[in-house]
Amino acid sequence: MLYTLPSLPYADDALEPAISKKTVEFHYGKHEKAYIENLNNLIQNTDKCDLPLEEIILSSSGALFNNASQAWNHIFYFFSFSPDGGGEPKGELRQAIDRQFGSFELFKKQFTEAGIKLFGSGWVWLSCDNEGNLFITQGSNASNPMTEGLTPLLVFDVWEHAYYLDYQNRRADALNALWNIIDWDIVESRF
Ligand code: MN
Repeated sequence: MLYTLPSLPYADDALEPAISKKTVEFHYGKHEKAYIENLNNLIQNTDKCDLPLEEIILSSSGALFNNASQAWNHIFYFFSFSPDGGGEPKGELRQAIDRQFGSFELFKKQFTEAGIKLFGSGWVWLSCDNEGNLFITQGSNASNPMTEGLTPLLVFDVWEHAYYLDYQNRRADALNALWNIIDWDIVESRF
């Protein structure tokens, strides 16, 4: 089975001003599309062809891992947003955040700092283990915490291609704006 680029559940300009139409068109429509095409070229006519994407990520390395994980990560990232997003999480996830980080504001600060300080290209993740413990982790390049047995809940893309058209070198501004478009109902459903 070959993969296709899923249509986003919002218009290309719906996340403005946090993420511009142009960035959605390039980041999702071109960068993500290329990762999926590379993935398809690598799995076509191989024994990986019928595996779910998660299993390809967990059982590969090198170019296949990089393209499979980037394909998955970008879908996860773009499907975490909504033009009606923002605000604060509620329910059990909120309780876990308050318990572990002290407050939602302290969590936001720590998560954003992890993204600002990540050197080079990568992702900052919120994930959980089977006991519901939360983890903020930085990962280079195509990393994904599922390779460490964790369940991803939220991710910020800190590759320059994620923000350079809109924010140039101002990564902190780009990351701070993302809090305004996070769909917490989706994030909570992953917990
Ligand atoms: Mn990206």
